Amino acid sequence: MPDQKKQRVYTDGNGRPIENPKASQRVGSNGPLLLQDFHLIDLLAHFDRERIPERVVHAKGAGAYGFFELTDPVDDLTSNPMFRHVGQKTKLVCRFSTVGGEKGSADSARDPRGFALKFYTDEGNWDWVFNNTPIFFLRDPSKFPMFIHTQKRHPQTNLKDTNMFWDYLSSNQECVHQVMHLFSDRGTPYSYRHMNAYSGHTFKWTKPDGTYNYVQIHCKTDQGNKTFTAEEAAKMESANPDWHTEDLFNSIKKGEYPSWTCYVQVLSPEQVEKFRWNIFDLTKVWPQKEVPLRRFGRFTLNKNPENYFSEIEQAAFSPSHLVPGVEPSADPVLQARLFSYPDTHRHRLGTNYQQIPVNKPLNAFNPFQRDGAMTVTDNYGSLPHYPSTSEPNLYTTVKPTQAKETWHGAAEVVALPVTDEDYVQPRALWGVLGRTPGQQEHLVSNIAGHLCGADKRIREATYGMFTRVHQDLGARLRQETEAKVPISARL
Ligand code: NDP
Repeated sequence: MPDQKKQRVYTDGNGRPIENPKASQRVGSNGPLLLQDFHLIDLLAHFDRERIPERVVHAKGAGAYGFFELTDPVDDLTSNPMFRHVGQKTKLVCRFSTVGGEKGSADSARDPRGFALKFYTDEGNWDWVFNNTPIFFLRDPSKFPMFIHTQKRHPQTNLKDTNMFWDYLSSNQECVHQVMHLFSDRGTPYSYRHMNAYSGHTFKWTKPDGTYNYVQIHCKTDQGNKTFTAEEAAKMESANPDWHTEDLFNSIKKGEYPSWTCYVQVLSPEQVEKFRWNIFDLTKVWPQKEVPLRRFGRFTLNKNPENYFSEIEQAAFSPSHLVPGVEPSADPVLQARLFSYPDTHRHRLGTNYQQIPVNKPLNAFNPFQRDGAMTVTDNYGSLPHYPSTSEPNLYTTVKPTQAKETWHGAAEVVALPVTDEDYVQPRALWGVLGRTPGQQEHLVSNIAGHLCGADKRIREATYGMFTRVHQDLGARLRQETEAKVPISARL
């Protein structure tokens, strides 16, 4: 961090001291400017290039630094270097975000929230690229671009489009579980500090002997779950579109450090054989009564970034950033994210995105991967480009620890049909909402307030979807939505 008190001499980008940063070279006092004025030309040229590609999803965000502390041993499950002994602390950076909105959009919009963490272990960075909901809208990644496009702007009008939004959802009904989370009050969290995070995906936690378990991670807010109603969220969208960003920054500045307690759900491969739910289906949870939560740690955010762009905008998270003791599962959406996240970072930040200080692992040593645009390290100096057996011995390697998971089958295109099973967990959520007065009513009125703008055919298909979840939900939704539809659109 620069010493703010020290008087420094202003220079151009090349370091040459400049006598007046607010004046340009020109011919006479009124004549044209001179191309030789490097200070001005460089200033403008840099300004023209300030924007890097906005994230296609998760564009609007906020972040902070903190640490993770292991509270309970899990060495029976994994050889992860972050979990060597109780009390062990690991530094981290965190980025929260909305999903669909552009960079300038309102924080309190109804949307899932991204909740990404990067832990700097001494055996690589481990990223948790989580959301604040335990499930997602789809289970086949080929649907992801089309789904996201339907939640964004119409190709012709460049407006958000209610027909496109509900037409996609009612035609791809595996989404209904996540749609219910989205339109419950949890779809409008009070702040980033007051929401949970879930891995959603199944991962494998592995041991050096090749044995493994399947796991899902839950992080529960120690501040308590707190949400806006639809009215409060809408009010905040116009009163303070940056409310979540401001709340996070100011609470950390005041020393009120938010924290989350971390739990793991564990299933052995043998248990999975008999488990009712497909653990690779991102639209399903593991019921907590059947697979209890086991506490293992807590993380705390205690430091604001000094520079948002450098440290948070450039932070590059990926579920493929793993450490020993953790491996991906066969969840197809996870498999696609393993590719897509680093790919987007290479596009957004460049080939060497992992050299940017916030992304740089503590220990990386890979001299066979070098050069490329914006190489800002010593590029491994004169070390050879290839493994050498002669002196000096360049590196050692570790023993392979990959879990021995085997798969058999023909290579084929597999469409995943929607079945009655897809409505069982949404029905359970309808029941969970019924435990707290007002929650079912809010779900119905939040959907109705949005759906009433869609065409009749699409409204009907959407009532059908929610009726398959629960008769009562479908009936109440129809009644409330139709009452809100303008008379001209009721036919
Ligand atoms: P449980 O009754 O054992 O757990 C229900 C869970 O629902 C709670 O632990 C809580 O999780 C979460 N919850 C409570 N209030 C709300 C709310 N207003 N909106 C959304 N979630 C809420 O049931 P099951 O585990 O059998 O799950 C039943 C349904 O609960 C699922 O279909 C799913 O939609 C939802 N749920 C399940 C989770 C899981 O991993 N099993 C996690 C979150 C929700 P938390 O403390 O994490 O907020």
